[in-house]
Amino acid sequence: MKIICIGRNYSDHAKELGNAIGKTPLFFLKPDTALLAKRMPFFLPDFSNEVHHEVELVVKINRVGKHIEEQFAHKYYSEISLGVDFTARDVQQVCKEKGHPWEIAKAFDGSAPVGRFISKQQFDLNNLSFSLYKNDEQVQTGNTKEMIFSVDQIIAYISKFITLKKGDLIFTGTPSGVAKVEKNDHLKAFIDQECLLDVKVR
Ligand code: MG
Repeated sequence: MKIICIGRNYSDHAKELGNAIGKTPLFFLKPDTALLAKRMPFFLPDFSNEVHHEVELVVKINRVGKHIEEQFAHKYYSEISLGVDFTARDVQQVCKEKGHPWEIAKAFDGSAPVGRFISKQQFDLNNLSFSLYKNDEQVQTGNTKEMIFSVDQIIAYISKFITLKKGDLIFTGTPSGVAKVEKNDHLKAFIDQECLLDVKVR
């Protein structure tokens, strides 16, 4: 399986990092080794002094697809969750300045904890609120209606280039409020009142 992440999909987050908003989605990949095993803590990597949390809606692909049309994209996922796209912001900044790929800042081991999956049936994915709490304080909140590109538009775009397979995960971008995590922080991510992801930083 592969993890595909969308960047700059909420204008308030793009602004907070000083990034322009594109006319098409921006995506990058994380390997399966970026997943964090259930109940395992996230270990801060030693190559960064500034790892940021980015809470994101995650969709799980449920069948193979290429060149998926936007109007049919909803048939390709039935479960959703929340994940954290951990980002070594200091390392990413150097990559950006040099025009290099972002993998060393984004794709490292454990950089993609994902919560428990739930059926999308009960939700309107174009108006879904989610939030991230750090040590019981709300640090990020977003609603999918603020997304620049919808889940279905994202799937249509990615599948022009890459075949999507059952089990692939798509991180759909983070709202504003990204910030540094510290050792012993405790992160919890919620859709409405339901906690789907609980991860400790070590
Ligand atoms: Mg992200």
